[in-house]
Amino acid sequence: MIPVNEPVIGEAERRYVLECLETGWVSSAGRFIEAFEEAWAGYCGVRHGVAVSNGTAALQLALAAAGLDPGSEVVLPTFTIVSCVLAVLYSGLVPVLVDADPDTWCMDVASLEERIGPRTRAIMPVHIYGHPVDMDPVRKIADACGLIVIEDAAEAHGATYKGKRCGSLGDMSCFSFYANKVVTTGEGGMVLTDDDGLARKLRDMRNLCFGTPDRFRHEDLGFNFRMTNIQAALGLAQVERIDSLVARKREIASRYTDGLQGLPLRLPVEREWATSVYWMYGVVLEPAAGMDAREFAARLADKGVDTRPFFFGMHEQPALLKRGLFAGERYPVAEHLARYGLYLPSGLALTEGQQEQVISAVREVLA
Ligand SMILES: *Cc1c(COP(=O)(O)O)cnc(C)c1O
Repeated sequence: MIPVNEPVIGEAERRYVLECLETGWVSSAGRFIEAFEEAWAGYCGVRHGVAVSNGTAALQLALAAAGLDPGSEVVLPTFTIVSCVLAVLYSGLVPVLVDADPDTWCMDVASLEERIGPRTRAIMPVHIYGHPVDMDPVRKIADACGLIVIEDAAEAHGATYKGKRCGSLGDMSCFSFYANKVVTTGEGGMVLTDDDGLARKLRDMRNLCFGTPDRFRHEDLGFNFRMTNIQAALGLAQVERIDSLVARKREIASRYTDGLQGLPLRLPVEREWATSVYWMYGVVLEPAAGMDAREFAARLADKGVDTRPFFFGMHEQPALLKRGLFAGERYPVAEHLARYGLYLPSGLALTEGQQEQVISAVREVLA
């Protein structure tokens, strides 16, 4: 089976991780943590990076540091990973959803404004599958209404919006470095911000809000969301070759886009104001294909090609409906994407030969 995604672990990763083991710096102190934070924040063009244990924790930490009143509303796309809503709920806040754009699959910024109400305090745009959200309208609404923007850039390492790096477009931005992300530390995440005060708060809250001068007298409630030096060592090695990782992702995408022309499939778009990193190469079946994504996936699996379905919208999640959230809400674009979208093998370890096999399999199934 051709896997959907596999990381490539290089020589520098081995060397840096070995240094952790040989020096005994295996926990959440050590030189790689700050080096990784500085390298990643610097690459994104942001002043501060605060490394954490995973991307979900990064979102939760950012919302906690924002210090919003309980019951405040956070507007976010329905078409995203559950982490976004979990972070909102675990922070005592209320998620409010917007539908997806049918082409970029990101939050439909045209329907953002109608979701802003008197209790709205934050917007959480999510760059989906490597393509940036149209951020200018988001910023404009946020500024007009006094809202904080928490950018989820966990699928957009290295993507740009109007020449600016994803991860530099919010008041805080959140990354994941899970094994399938463009940069991986196995498990890991980071919050970026230009704001010195927020950065201090994020660092404190990541590490249990230890006191000064009395370490064990706490002024605030924190979390243990620390990253280890070993994880940061993996991450630093990859940031050092980020340009080649991004170039490789774009090369895989362009080969698919060439190879999949003329089929009843909608392929990923790249808006003129964006460079996508094509974290995952998604396709959406058109009616002429005569099947849904579940059947398409099964038929590709028969030919040795592994795929992953698109997200199910948050308004279709039993776990959330059971809690009384989103009752009766409908988001037709997200519902369509969930049923007709999937993504093809897109990992950095994918060979040209494997990619040709995937293209042939797709062509045969849709013939
Ligand atoms: C992967 C991902 C996360 C969660 O990251 P974890 O490290 O798995 O907790 C959050 N948001 C988006 C958009 C993601 O793709």
